[in-house]
Amino acid sequence: MKIYELADDSVHDLLKEAISAYHNMIGKLEIKFGLIRVTSVDKKGEPDEKPALKSSSGHAAAAQISLVSKKDQLSKNYEVEILFDGPMWDGMTDKKRLAILDHELTHIEIAKDKDGHAKIDDLTGKPKLKLIPDQFHLWGFLDIAKRHGEDSSEVANMRSMAINHGHLFGLETGTPPAPKDELAPDSSSDS
Ligand SMILES: [Zn+2]
Repeated sequence: MKIYELADDSVHDLLKEAISAYHNMIGKLEIKFGLIRVTSVDKKGEPDEKPALKSSSGHAAAAQISLVSKKDQLSKNYEVEILFDGPMWDGMTDKKRLAILDHELTHIEIAKDKDGHAKIDDLTGKPKLKLIPDQFHLWGFLDIAKRHGEDSSEVANMRSMAINHGHLFGLETGTPPAPKDELAPDSSSDS
């Protein structure tokens, strides 16, 4: 079972911080957000260890974002909803919480027509929003990486991330080591 609660002011303050630091467009459009804390509880109503939120692939998610339909906006009075896992949230530093909110906000974009112009909502006069998917996900099975190596998406995706963006993940080099026989010959010869 799950318990849903409206988030307290500290979460709204962090959201404001993320918007003013990283999401100018969202700030300018004055988009209204609903923030909801979700807790998975057992039959006695005590929080259990289960994840409160799951991604479409079944993985535990710290937070989830959705656009509120026109119909639901009548009762909710906000346009975008962010759910977050309450117990997970409690165990995090504010810096991690900020990163999570920044992540969710990065899913929001202005919807464009085929000529690249913003689609406008006739009723509000504001641009229409859409959600974009994550730029990458590194999911898979270690056994598949072992069994199929380069032919598995596990290895291919991880390798491509390491080569192209390794520095973001604290990896020393973005290029794999060259095979031995292609290395330049040692020039420190004393003959
Ligand atoms: Zn995401």
